Amino acid sequence: MDFDIIVVGGGHAGTEAALAAARMGCKTLLLTHNIETIGQMSCNPSIGGIGKSHLVKEIDALGGAMGLAADEAGIQFRVLNSSKGPAVRATRAQADRVLYKQAICSRVENQPNLRVMQQAVDDLIIEQDRVVGVITQLQLKIRARAVILTVGTFLAGLAHIGKTHFKAGRAGDPPSITLAQRLREMEFPAGRLKTGTPPRIDGRSMDYAKLLEQPGDQPAPSFSLIDTGIRHPRQISCWITHTNAETHDIIRDGLVDSPLFTGKIEGVGPRYCPSIEDKVVRFSARESHQIFLEPEGLGTHEIYPNGISTSLSFDVQVKLIHSIAGLENAHITRPGYAIEYDYFDPRNLKRSLETKNIGNLFFAGQINGTTGYEEAAAQGLLAGVNAALKVQEKEAWLPQRHEAYLGVLVDDLVTSGVTEPYRMFTSRAEYRLQLREDNADLRLTETGRKLGLIDDQRWEAFSNKQEAIEKEQQRLDSIRVLPGTLPEQDAIRVLGKGIEREYTLTELLKRPDVTYATLMTLPGAGESVASAQVAEQVEIQAKYHGYIQRQQEEVSRQAQYENTLLPKEIDYCMVKGLSNEVQQKLNQHKPETIGQASRISGVTPAAISLLLVHLKRGF
Ligand code: FAD
Repeated sequence: MDFDIIVVGGGHAGTEAALAAARMGCKTLLLTHNIETIGQMSCNPSIGGIGKSHLVKEIDALGGAMGLAADEAGIQFRVLNSSKGPAVRATRAQADRVLYKQAICSRVENQPNLRVMQQAVDDLIIEQDRVVGVITQLQLKIRARAVILTVGTFLAGLAHIGKTHFKAGRAGDPPSITLAQRLREMEFPAGRLKTGTPPRIDGRSMDYAKLLEQPGDQPAPSFSLIDTGIRHPRQISCWITHTNAETHDIIRDGLVDSPLFTGKIEGVGPRYCPSIEDKVVRFSARESHQIFLEPEGLGTHEIYPNGISTSLSFDVQVKLIHSIAGLENAHITRPGYAIEYDYFDPRNLKRSLETKNIGNLFFAGQINGTTGYEEAAAQGLLAGVNAALKVQEKEAWLPQRHEAYLGVLVDDLVTSGVTEPYRMFTSRAEYRLQLREDNADLRLTETGRKLGLIDDQRWEAFSNKQEAIEKEQQRLDSIRVLPGTLPEQDAIRVLGKGIEREYTLTELLKRPDVTYATLMTLPGAGESVASAQVAEQVEIQAKYHGYIQRQQEEVSRQAQYENTLLPKEIDYCMVKGLSNEVQQKLNQHKPETIGQASRISGVTPAAISLLLVHLKRGF
């Protein structure tokens, strides 16, 4: 039983990694604890949201599964920040967790070159600082040319509910104890992080009359950037309620048994997704916190109360739920809990996600200190691609910060490491005007095709879309509107005022109040055959042309830094003029490029100049 690539873990990182490697022609094996849990959403059944949706669309643009599965399983879709600029707009879907799992599973099961096997991996086979296989719980030795670990929250996982704690990978699943021990013995720098989940509620026991309905957007948007023919299932509403002073009193009284506040939990939790007890303590002046009551699916009554993740004892969880309007008689189907787990310092990884000390071993997902399905899936895809390239003896694919959120994510991780679970935000991307979710395919699909990730059908759809955008742009460039030829009422209706000189339609589209749709109602604008996606691109590209061009000039200035490699063997103590602190940091983290070195905290522009001089001298 020999494989090119073994992927360990059937979560969001593992499935994208395995699918990508197999699509690139590698004989791939996905080993996971339980085949039934492939694609399982451990926590909130939702995909996307601010920053995260950009990653989903990039995964989609590279032929990955997450966006398609979310389209197939989404029971409520919304575009967040829809009134703001296109750079920060974000699609979010509430998913039916069973349909989502099915959508991922069917892609895994039907992927050529990919085999699946239910086995826990307990150890790695290492020969001469290179991984050559794994050893499973049954002591099966399976050899491969590269291994990708995507074991999520399972490494030495410890769940907490009040004073009770038990070993688990997540509720209902065993932890990975032996593998965690082995990895620590291999001297990967490790730490502990924690995350939590709220109790689930039986929707039949909620009083909907006291809740505010939150319907999804109509028409519902999609994640996939090409028309795949996938139609969303029936769309349903979410509901909103709030905590109140009584809830907060119950929580404060319950803190005596809270593992978070009694020091039982050592791991650091996600600052942006705190537990309800954390919120009540940290924001003590707030009188209430919003709760979204989100259905877990079309075929279940279970509701996910988003906003009250907790590890308080179960009796306190019952009381706090019953204190909330609409939930006075709610029945809890599953208790909330927190989980602590091992992660490994991602600064020990190359930009390809291969570990620095063991060749051909890749880490992706929560194991690298991130949180979230989207962050995991994006890393999984990249690790799958780079493991495949490694066994095919090709150069790694290293997306840069100006090309993709995927580049931002990986650069942040391998350069700065994490001090808390890392989640993606649009604010992390300095080039966000060009890294929009709407143009993920225009940025990445061509690369995906070269890598072997994009099938003919997707490539044809993408090429047609690209051609249609160019054609429409040329058409708008070629149509001129002359002063005096435009009826005044049309000029005022569409443009807000008359025109004083000759304009092309592209120039008019650049005006803040003019949309593509209104422009098309102008006499002489001609017949548009552009689809909604094509029209959106034409409009955004026209309006933001100047800003995007300026960002591209900045990218070109930075390119010199990003493309200047720092040799592995460089001893930074030999670089004249560098402070001890900078020498130490550079020796410890061994950045791969000058650009990466410049983003390490404490490495000043002056230090970068000294490094450049040192490189020029041939060190
Ligand atoms: P996972 O989805 O955890 O998948 C790991 C896979 O590896 C599983 O299939 C497992 O069976 C398998 N596996 C593990 N060890 C082995 C082994 N030794 N051999 C074989 N297979 C193995 N994210 C958020 O963004 N916000 C939240 O609020 C949030 N709350 C969470 C609360 C809880 C209680 C949990 C458990 C998770 C939460 N998450 C949250 C995190 C989210 O679930 C993860 O970010 C995401 O699932 C990570 O994906 P992954 O692929 O890295 O790992």
